[in-house]
Amino acid sequence: MTEQRGTPPLVLVVDDDPGTRLLAAASLRQAGYATVEAADGDDGISAFRQFRPALVLLDVVMPRMDGFIACREIRRLPGGDRVPILMMTGLDDLSSIHRAYEVGATDFVTKPIHWVILGYRVGYLLRAARAFLDLARSEEKTRALLRAIPDRILRIGADGAVLDLVAGVGIAADPSVEDAGKRTLSDVLPGGIPEEVLRNIGEARKSGGIQRFEYAIDSAAGRRSFEARIVSIPGEESLLIARDMTDRKKAEDQLAHMAYHDALTGLPNRVAFSERLFQELARAKRRNEVVAIVFLDLDRFKDVNDTLGHDAGDRLLVAVAERLRGAMRETDTLARISGDEFCIILPDQRDEHAAIEAGRRVHQAFTEPFHIDGQEAHVTASMGISLYPANGGSPETLVKQADIAMFRAKSLGGGNFLPFSEEMSAEVAARVRMEKGLRSACEKKEFVVHYQPAIDLRSGRIVGAEALVRWRTEDQGLVQPLQFIPLAEETGAIVPISEWVIETACAQAQAWHAQGFGPFRISVNVSARLFHRYDLNATIRDILRQTGLAPGSFELEITESVAMGNMESTIETLWKLNEASIRVAMDDFGTGYSSLAYLQRMPIQLLKIDMSFIREMDRNPDDQTIVKTIIAMAHTLNIEVIAEGVERVEQLDLLKSFGCDLAQGFLFSKPVPAEEFTRLLAENRGMTV
Ligand code: C2E
Ligand code: MG
Ligand code: MG
Repeated sequence: MTEQRGTPPLVLVVDDDPGTRLLAAASLRQAGYATVEAADGDDGISAFRQFRPALVLLDVVMPRMDGFIACREIRRLPGGDRVPILMMTGLDDLSSIHRAYEVGATDFVTKPIHWVILGYRVGYLLRAARAFLDLARSEEKTRALLRAIPDRILRIGADGAVLDLVAGVGIAADPSVEDAGKRTLSDVLPGGIPEEVLRNIGEARKSGGIQRFEYAIDSAAGRRSFEARIVSIPGEESLLIARDMTDRKKAEDQLAHMAYHDALTGLPNRVAFSERLFQELARAKRRNEVVAIVFLDLDRFKDVNDTLGHDAGDRLLVAVAERLRGAMRETDTLARISGDEFCIILPDQRDEHAAIEAGRRVHQAFTEPFHIDGQEAHVTASMGISLYPANGGSPETLVKQADIAMFRAKSLGGGNFLPFSEEMSAEVAARVRMEKGLRSACEKKEFVVHYQPAIDLRSGRIVGAEALVRWRTEDQGLVQPLQFIPLAEETGAIVPISEWVIETACAQAQAWHAQGFGPFRISVNVSARLFHRYDLNATIRDILRQTGLAPGSFELEITESVAMGNMESTIETLWKLNEASIRVAMDDFGTGYSSLAYLQRMPIQLLKIDMSFIREMDRNPDDQTIVKTIIAMAHTLNIEVIAEGVERVEQLDLLKSFGCDLAQGFLFSKPVPAEEFTRLLAENRGMTV
């Protein structure tokens, strides 16, 4: 009955009779309340404003302002709408009782008042008021919560009609929800609801508990997926919660796709490939079939990226994927493993022969050129193949073997296709060792430069030297460039190696000049990787400045493949080099595109005829014709010509008769260390020309 804790609730007693006020206040204080008193309606209203009582005890009959008016006024005050107002009326005054309720009284007590009972009455009214307030607050909270949930929540009556509906955050935008007049489930659920699901919901409402359904709706905007939960007590109201799962489903599907596919080509990735291979091998085992595993790596893909840019590289990969797919059966699997590496499973082959033939067909997909950005690109691929069961049973082993065979195929110069054989493993081990060694070779200063003279065919004197790098290893002795340059290009080690060679050769040439053996040119080979670096020109000029070598004494050797990679940017770079007085030589001419037409567009100063034309020249008239033509045409373009690989006097004589300007070859000297070259320079009067 009483408030035990905290400040006691305050009761405002309004009565014109001081005796009643006194008794009321006394009995209420006795019951544990605080009181404040007012002698009429007006005072009562001011006291309410001032004290904000928890309850008002209000007399009806008072002079000036009576209790009815006071009650109505209090109800209009802030906080007055919720305060319990207990009116005191005469015992049989029924009309007063009616009016009291009309003006908003909460309850009434009749006079004469039973003072003990009054305390209980007040206590009850206060508790009821508090419970009412708590309920209102809780409902408000629930409503706010429901508004924040992006689900559609429906209250369904026992008869199955929709009682009300809370449109969730995401769903409120849906116009159908605003249509509150609709009363059936299928009317108000998002997108309409399939019959079958409606039946399920009906069943669930009967059986009770929580049930879950999924459904999808096809609309003009596409397919949308929903999840519905129904919470029900049989025979009573139930709640239905519907959630739009479309975006989540899409994200899930996308994640699943991403985990198994390569984003660029859309092909299965390494993970998907491994799983597939596992399945295919298990199947082949049951059926006694042969499976071919192909490992394919594009040749010189780094060049494409370096010269044409990464976007073009990406487009090439997509085109390759398409081309390969077209060369395979539906049941074959093509996967992109990384970068420019693809793996292929060719299952249910009759025998080994058929399996290798299937691989060869895939390899032939590269005979036609690709078209990238309107340019024709001849792309080749190195391919290795391993066979189940001949080469082993485990997926890892078979993939590794195909990879090894691919490696071997690549070392043959690209565009090759090889089946795995046991001997290959040892070679690969050696290559891996070399790759490791290359990485530290620069710091360990294991490289040396040898110099091979270039002879002027009119004077017979040394007019130049080609710098050729060698690698002095601890275990294998002197390694020739052809054995490690391709690998260095692949791994990127070529960049620091080349910079070191340029620096060393320039410093050496400058030293020879200083010793009075000049002037002659030093030429250095550059690979595509280095040539297409944006700072090649600046790097060379820096080195020339540091070593003090005159730019005119330096010559850069590029190959046709470097030049053809990206004609426009090549030409631009060449012009910049020329502007800096740096000479450019076209190396190994005749081995690549062999087009004299494009030479016209390139600012080069020297053409090096590849030794393959010189080798048999004195015995083969066809080669003579070619060499003669190259020399004549180069001269019309004002380009000097040097013949490489001259080993015999017969070759030399022919070259001289064709008007060749320079020659280089074992006939004069092999590439030799710097000290030995110094000796050659010292005797540089009587070379056998
Ligand atoms: P290359 O630029 O065409 O160099 C000429 C190659 O022919 C050299 O092989 C040289 O030793 C060899 N040679 C010269 N005269 C004769 C001859 O009369 N008969 C025969 N059979 N061969 C002769 P080497 O030194 O093994 O170099 C091979 C290739 O490696 C070079 O071909 C060049 O493309 C590359 N290379 C060498 N040094 C470097 C370098 O510092 N950087 C880059 N990027 N490539 C280099
Ligand atoms: Mg060269
Ligand atoms: Mg050459």
